[in-house]
Amino acid sequence: MAQDFHSFDVIVIGGGHAGTEAALASARSGARTLLLTHSIETIGAMSCNPAIGGIGKGHLVREIDALGGVMARAADAAGIQWRRLNASKGPAVRATRCQADRSLYRSFIRRAVESQPGLTLFQAAVDDLLIESDGSHGDAVRGVVTQSGLRFRAPAVVLTAGTFLAGRIHVGETQYAAGRAGDPPATTLAAKLRERPFVVDRLKTGTPPRIDGRTLDYSVMTEQPGDDPRPVFSFVGSHADHPAQVSCWITHTSERTHDIIRAALHRSPMYSGQIEGTGPRYCPSIEDKVVRFAEKASHQIFVEPEGLDVAEIYPNGISTSLPFDVQLELVRSIAGFADAHITRAGYAIEYDYFDPRGLKSSLETKSVQGLFFAGQINGTTGYEEAAAQGLVAGLNAARHVQEQPAWSPRRDQAYIGVLIDDLVTQGTNEPYRMFTSRAEYRLQLREDNADLRLTQVGRELGLVDDARWDLFARKRDAVAAETARLGALWASPNNSAGREAAATLGIELSRENSALDLLRRPELDYARLTSLPAFAPAVEDAAVAEQVEIEAKYSGYLERQRAEIARQQRNEDTAIAQDFPYGAVHGLSAELRQKLESVRPETVGQAQRIPGMTPAAISLLLVHLARAK
Ligand code: FAD
Repeated sequence: MAQDFHSFDVIVIGGGHAGTEAALASARSGARTLLLTHSIETIGAMSCNPAIGGIGKGHLVREIDALGGVMARAADAAGIQWRRLNASKGPAVRATRCQADRSLYRSFIRRAVESQPGLTLFQAAVDDLLIESDGSHGDAVRGVVTQSGLRFRAPAVVLTAGTFLAGRIHVGETQYAAGRAGDPPATTLAAKLRERPFVVDRLKTGTPPRIDGRTLDYSVMTEQPGDDPRPVFSFVGSHADHPAQVSCWITHTSERTHDIIRAALHRSPMYSGQIEGTGPRYCPSIEDKVVRFAEKASHQIFVEPEGLDVAEIYPNGISTSLPFDVQLELVRSIAGFADAHITRAGYAIEYDYFDPRGLKSSLETKSVQGLFFAGQINGTTGYEEAAAQGLVAGLNAARHVQEQPAWSPRRDQAYIGVLIDDLVTQGTNEPYRMFTSRAEYRLQLREDNADLRLTQVGRELGLVDDARWDLFARKRDAVAAETARLGALWASPNNSAGREAAATLGIELSRENSALDLLRRPELDYARLTSLPAFAPAVEDAAVAEQVEIEAKYSGYLERQRAEIARQQRNEDTAIAQDFPYGAVHGLSAELRQKLESVRPETVGQAQRIPGMTPAAISLLLVHLARAK
């Protein structure tokens, strides 16, 4: 019997980075899923710079990948210049970044969506949600209504509308409604959502003008080829997945650029008061940089190709909403840009977002059952942050329908856990992006061990397919076997291994050491150690060798961190009911009671992280919880 066209388990609204991961995760979890989006052509579109990863963001990509998501594989299929950032620093902050071919990226995502069993695609603008009162249980979502009046029904809906909700573009004094350049806004849906009890505010973001690369003079710029060895994003990926590689270039703004900007500040919507929303602090516009860092004579600009078969380049670092005539003048004052032809104007966009403290850590809204929010609408910025939330929301939407408990990673388990916990506990009043400094357990949460941290749980949740699981299990076993092998090889001042190590590696041995102990020494690495016949053969898989080496070198820190995590965990998982009577906790100050009532944390761990919370208040809470048992 043909499936009812209008009835699904999960509906995902929006085909951006959050929406595609949400739809794929939901379908992989066995839910009949419908992805509704404005335009099938823009599925997987990158609104801003075609680049994936970076510090903190690369970690998210690897975690999404470990949970069976698509972003890392799409980046491998589209990455045209690869870099390993912080390569000379500690393993916690090393990160992968690739410049992507915009169109290859989009094609890969579209293919992934189209080939996912259980996932149906339909092009439509959603104008409203169907929400019914569920008796004593409060409101519950029942489906959506499209612009043309079609009704699709589902007990779970994931909203991932990005910058489109009441989106408003600004270029100088000109402003108009749009979701992003060339796309319609979601105005009706935004108005309908404002009638609901969600806390809505405005944020803004911006993008630079795009330039025809054939009109630039590269001879005055510095070439930045990709790194060798070239990183690969996906655990199941390889260099064979990568397309042709190209270079990026570096140039600078000049004093004249800054003079042009200063003279036109009164025409900038950011400074004239035309824009109300707060912009991304870590990705400021060029006018913002010139004002905030007035002492700097120039700012770096990365000249990044938009793709292999297109002439456009993305000048990373000059995001602006100044009027077009000023954009043209400032662009042409940049070294190598004297004859630059702008193909698209830069602009800023303001949009509605929801206070993420209205969400549970599953990303389900607290006020409407079965309704999940993910991506930019939760106050974040960036493809990776959006995709990470999408995966968790899509998974939990499916689990909601299947009456399974929700799952969200802990802070010590994944950056995805840090991201979600920060959002739902602390909220945000500026676009939130991920940094390694946001994680207290950075050394645990490395890019290189994302698979070891998350693939097992991803498999249990039904997100990881057989091929990935087999590959993962082989790597995990190989790491364990090599660690055990090195742990069982002994070198002492009196045995041949010890004498060989002393003579060849120039190390002093005062007592017996295992090869694993030797690996902990700062002057030794895995390759040197296993070059000795006594400790050979080295494993062939570089990822296995890297893992054995990092775990050995940092074992002291890692063990201390694991002990700290275990200690924290005791409170972390102590649940607090959503209707917990904070007013009944004697000794709790009115201010802290108010904070607890507004966040309504799901666990004591989450309560501890509410800004301003004190250890004394947590003790009172614990006493009350123990009595209530
Ligand atoms: P989006 O990628 O915006 O996707 C939303 C999707 O929902 C679209 O497919 C849209 O068509 C669809 N949709 C919306 N409403 C409806 C509806 N009612 N019915 C059906 N479909 C709907 N990030 C950075 O990290 N750094 C930056 O500097 C940066 N600059 C940016 C500049 C601009 C101008 C813009 C627009 C974005 C910028 N971003 C930047 C943000 C980045 O693009 C987003 O973080 C990311 O795309 C968010 O993903 P998302 O899935 O939440 O939303």
